[in-house]
Amino acid sequence: MKHLLSMADLGVDGIEEILRVTESFVEVTARDIPRVPALRGKTIVSLFYEESTRTRLSFESAAKRLSADVMTFSVATSSVQKGESLKDTVETIQAMGMDAVVVRHASAGVPWQVSQWVDASVVNAGDGWHEHPTQALLDAYTIRERLGSLEGRRIAIVGDVKHSRVARSNVLGFHALGAEVTLVAPPTLLPPSLEGWPCEVTTDLDALLPKLDVIYVLRMQRERMTEAVLPSMREYTSRYGLTARRAANLPDGALVMHPGPMNRGVEIAAEVADAPGTVITRQVANGVAVRMAVLFLLLGSGASIA
Ligand code: ASP
Repeated sequence: MKHLLSMADLGVDGIEEILRVTESFVEVTARDIPRVPALRGKTIVSLFYEESTRTRLSFESAAKRLSADVMTFSVATSSVQKGESLKDTVETIQAMGMDAVVVRHASAGVPWQVSQWVDASVVNAGDGWHEHPTQALLDAYTIRERLGSLEGRRIAIVGDVKHSRVARSNVLGFHALGAEVTLVAPPTLLPPSLEGWPCEVTTDLDALLPKLDVIYVLRMQRERMTEAVLPSMREYTSRYGLTARRAANLPDGALVMHPGPMNRGVEIAAEVADAPGTVITRQVANGVAVRMAVLFLLLGSGASIA
């Protein structure tokens, strides 16, 4: 594997390999000193053109736990503010020497474009509405950890599918691992075409709830909504929000997931987010191990996990 740009490129074997290596790194992250020398001497750059809390910190701590050197690029304090182009920025960083670059950008396809310009490995950390593969991998890992397998599991992905790179990557990943995925959203929050999305679609969340193994709640991506797609957020919450009343209709043991950041009180009620059945903080914790696995598989040829 040279780059990680999309779940679509990985295939079942690629996903399985990353999840297998993740297991070793979950063990490493539980140690008193959660650090291994596997990527000593490698330099990893995080190039984030869009805001992020979890993903950037997660990649950076993954790189540090592998003993790599980390360079952080922040748009707000860089020469991007002086008008420097993406290509010039990438070439400048490459000239300083880097082995991998982790890219987030508001436009779909930017990580792929960067991969055409540099020799380093490129990891997509979220490109516009397109994909967010490491999110899907950490979500699949978390489901496996809790439920044993995704095979035959019924998973609903609820909410703002249209603007969600997480939805696309997760549909591809969950389906590849054998789950039955249903998207639940008002028609205005679905993409114009669902061609190539291996899943069912419904608007009836209440009918689905008692049959689910996993409910995956998406954030309402208000920053990407350029037109009115809903009568009001209150209306949305009343039909699609995971309220305490709805959560009570889930089977015992069903998992509640959310990629973060949450809009408490909009797509998920605060008491549901904090209830014992949710695995939202476990998703974050597993995110570090998944990203260690990805960086290790990209750069660690010959190294042992140790
Ligand atoms: N943090 C995820 C992403 O960057 C989900 C979200 O922002 O809604 O795509």
